Amino acid sequence: MTTETPVLLTIFGGTGDLAQRKLYPAIFRLFQKHQLQQHFAVIGTARRDWSHEYYRQVVRTAIASLTNDAAEITNFTSHFYYQSHDVNDVAHYQTLKSLSQRLDQQYRLRHNRLFYLAMAPNFFETIAQHLKSEQLLTTDGFNRLIIEKPFGHNYSSAEKLNKALTATFRTDQIFRIDHYLGKSMIQNITNLRFNNQLEALWNHHFIDNIQITLSEQLGVADRAIYYDQSGALRDMVQNHILQILSLLAMEQPAFNNHQSITIAKQTVLEQLHPLTAHTISQNFIRGQYAGAEHVKAYRQNNQISADSNNDSFVAGKITIDNPRWQGVPFYIRTGKELAAKYTRINVQFRTPAGSTAPANRLTINVEPEATITSALNIQSERPTVLKPVSAFAQNDAYANLLQAILHGDATHFTTWEELAAAWKFIDPIQAYWDTHEPEFPNYQPQTMGPQAATDLLTRDGRTWLD
Ligand code: NAD
Repeated sequence: MTTETPVLLTIFGGTGDLAQRKLYPAIFRLFQKHQLQQHFAVIGTARRDWSHEYYRQVVRTAIASLTNDAAEITNFTSHFYYQSHDVNDVAHYQTLKSLSQRLDQQYRLRHNRLFYLAMAPNFFETIAQHLKSEQLLTTDGFNRLIIEKPFGHNYSSAEKLNKALTATFRTDQIFRIDHYLGKSMIQNITNLRFNNQLEALWNHHFIDNIQITLSEQLGVADRAIYYDQSGALRDMVQNHILQILSLLAMEQPAFNNHQSITIAKQTVLEQLHPLTAHTISQNFIRGQYAGAEHVKAYRQNNQISADSNNDSFVAGKITIDNPRWQGVPFYIRTGKELAAKYTRINVQFRTPAGSTAPANRLTINVEPEATITSALNIQSERPTVLKPVSAFAQNDAYANLLQAILHGDATHFTTWEELAAAWKFIDPIQAYWDTHEPEFPNYQPQTMGPQAATDLLTRDGRTWLD
C-alpha cells in the first residue's frame, strides 16, 4: 500500500506541448500507482482563456491511450483546474493565490506545492520572483520548483539564471529536469557498477574505451527555431551525454545518497581534460544533414536560414584526468536524421594478454529496449555470443522523475555545480565552432553522420560499436 503525498501542482505553460505530451500522462501514471489519489490538485495556467471543463477535456485526450476506464478518467481529471494567467502580470498571481488556497483546503493538501515551469526559460526568472513577491510560497508545507532544459546557453547565462532562481528558492527546492536521468536504465548505472563485482574491472586496466550514442532518426521537425539557436552540442551533449558520462565515470560515492552521488558526478565533470583549439579541431566533429529524396536539408527548413552553421550532429573524444581513466577515451555521438533511433552505451574491454579473440563488450541499451547484453568468448562454433543478460521494465521517465520530486529525492536531478562544470567544458568547443567556418552540409540523412566521425575512431585503431 503506497502512501500518497498531498500536493498542489501548478503548471506554468499548461496548454503547451510538453504538458500535453509528457506531463499529463506522467501525472496519470502516478495516479494509477496510487502515488496521487485523493489529496492532489493540478492548476494549469497559460494565457489562453480556457474553462476548467475545456482543460479537463485536453487532459483527457492526453491520457486517452493509457486507459479505457471512463470512471477512472473522470475521477482523475476532476482534480484539474485551469487559470488564465499572463506570467508578466502581477495581478494574475493574486488570482492564482486565491485558487491555490481554495484547492489546498478542498483537497487537504497540507500547503505542499510544486511549481512546474513548462515554458520558455526566459520566463523562469519572472515567475520565480512573482511567486515570492506575491506570496504563493507556503511557510508550513514544501515548495519545489521544477524546470526544464535548456539551463542557459553558456556558462555565464546559466550562472545568471541560477542566481535569479536561488534568490527565491533554496538550492534543495530546485529540481532541474534532465529526462535522460529519469530513464530506467540510466537510473540503473549505479546499481550495475556498485552492486556487482563488475566495478573491479571498471578502470583503465581492463577497459579500452567507452562509447555513448544518442541517435535520433527525426529531423528538427517543428522545433526548428529553438534548435537552430542551440544545436546538438548544447541541446544534447552539455546535459544528457555529460550526465550519462559522469554516472559511468564517477568514483564510487561514499554513501548511496543524493549528496554523495552528486559530489562524485561533479568531481568527474571537473576532471574532464581541458580542451585547446588544437584538441577541439582534432577531437570534436560537427555535422549538418543534407537533403535526400524524402528529406529536406537542414538549411532548407523554412524556419532556418539558408546559411545556418548550426550543428545537427556531434561526435567527440573526451578523456578524464584521473588515475582510474588514464588513457581511456570516452567517444560520444548524437545527431538528427540518423539511421535509427536508439540510446546505447558500449563498454569495450581490453583483450587479455596473449589472446587473439575479440574483446569483451558490455552493452547497456537504454532505449528503445532496456537491456544489458554482453559479448563474451566461449567455446562454440560461433566464437562471440551477444546475449541479453537482463531486460528491465521501461518506466516512463517523467513519471519516475515526478515521483522522485514528490518524495523530495534529488538523486536524479542536475545540481548547479554539475551544470557549471558541464558548461565550462562545452563553452570552448562552441566558441571555436563560432569562429571557424564548417563545410556544411556534410552528412546524408539516415546514416550515422559525417565520415569524419568514423575517422575519429579509425585514427585510434578503433571503430564505433553497433
Ligand atoms: P510550448 O511553446 O508548446 O508551450 C509554451 C507554453 O507557455 C504554452 O502553454 C503557452 O501558452 C505558455 N505561454 C507563453 N507565453 C506566456 C505568458 N506570457 N504567460 C503565460 N503563459 C505563456 O513549449 P513546450 O514545447 O511545451 O516547452 C516548454 C519548456 O519545456 C521549454 O523550456 C522547452 O525548452 C522545454 N522542453 C520541452 C520539450 C518538449 O518535448 N516539448 C522537451 C524538453 C524541454
